Amino acid sequence: MTNPLTPAVLSDPVELTRVLVDIESVSLHEKDIADCVEQVLRGTPHLRVERLGNTVMARTELGRAQRVVLAGHLDTVPIADNLPAKIDGEIMYGCGTSDMKSGVALALQLAVALPEPRYDLTYFFYEAEEIDSAYNGLNLVSKSHPEWLAADFAVLLEPTHGVVEAGCQGTMRVLVSTTGKRAHSARSWRGVNAIHAAAGVLDRLAAYEARQVTIDGCAYREGLNAVRINGGIAGNVIPDRCEIEVNYRFAPDRTVADAEAHLRELFQGYEVTMVDAAPGALPGLTAAPAQEFLAAVGSDPVGKLGWTDVSRFAAMGIPALNFGPGDPNVAHAADERVEIPLIRQGAATLHRWLA
Ligand SMILES: [Zn+2]
Repeated sequence: MTNPLTPAVLSDPVELTRVLVDIESVSLHEKDIADCVEQVLRGTPHLRVERLGNTVMARTELGRAQRVVLAGHLDTVPIADNLPAKIDGEIMYGCGTSDMKSGVALALQLAVALPEPRYDLTYFFYEAEEIDSAYNGLNLVSKSHPEWLAADFAVLLEPTHGVVEAGCQGTMRVLVSTTGKRAHSARSWRGVNAIHAAAGVLDRLAAYEARQVTIDGCAYREGLNAVRINGGIAGNVIPDRCEIEVNYRFAPDRTVADAEAHLRELFQGYEVTMVDAAPGALPGLTAAPAQEFLAAVGSDPVGKLGWTDVSRFAAMGIPALNFGPGDPNVAHAADERVEIPLIRQGAATLHRWLA
């Protein structure tokens, strides 16, 4: 295919967003868009370019004291009869407008237009963020070429509606189990009902007061919830086991080990089995590039509540935050959209910070 990312398109972040949206790139089908992006970057003399699968990395090598990563995923969720992009006044509609081709457009435009940024920059345009992390382009890079990720600070251009969302909360699932004694329900007094015993677990959950924690000025609101319950054998059997699946969303001042210890203490007297966990990420806003970035944005940061690839950088000791023009509330929706003025503002902010 001829590359639609022409110099004229690349010079305008709004038009660039529209053209990127129209290159269909549902997860695991990012080859076309990655080819187009790679070709543009390879034609940009001030960048060194590498590719792994459908993830393209480009970096400046100016010998600056600090290096900053700008990253955006190229994939989208499945299309919902919402391509090609449509512009209606100040709103652009279409799959990926918010999550996150408007963010990708900001990074790609900078990559081409800014030969001498004040920090060295590493750009990632990566595959498969919207599906199982085994396919995630950043995850694959961290395994095979971790040196590509080396940086002092990272910005993920995920949808945040133009504000800084820093760090992210951790998440953990555990099974809290009760046991009883199996018996015929016609002689129920011979048994012990494990489902009835689950009431004690549910009481603790209902009475639980979740913490709200402020770190570097960002508020993180925790949550602890039963998300599934399983018990019972047959219509005439007193159940001897009941399992309550509990999801804990925890502020990033707690490690996974802290969070697990907290749940084991809360559910003392019950069997607690870990299902899975992912650490949160501290906002890390004290690093100099982060402070300068906040000054360029000019508004207060807020805590990120969902889990994002920010955590991958945090796990490597690199402070990272989310900042993008898309509206996170309409990401993945059939009427996904982005406000065009926020694309222009985002582009201006990044230029102010990096030029
Ligand atoms: Zn996203």
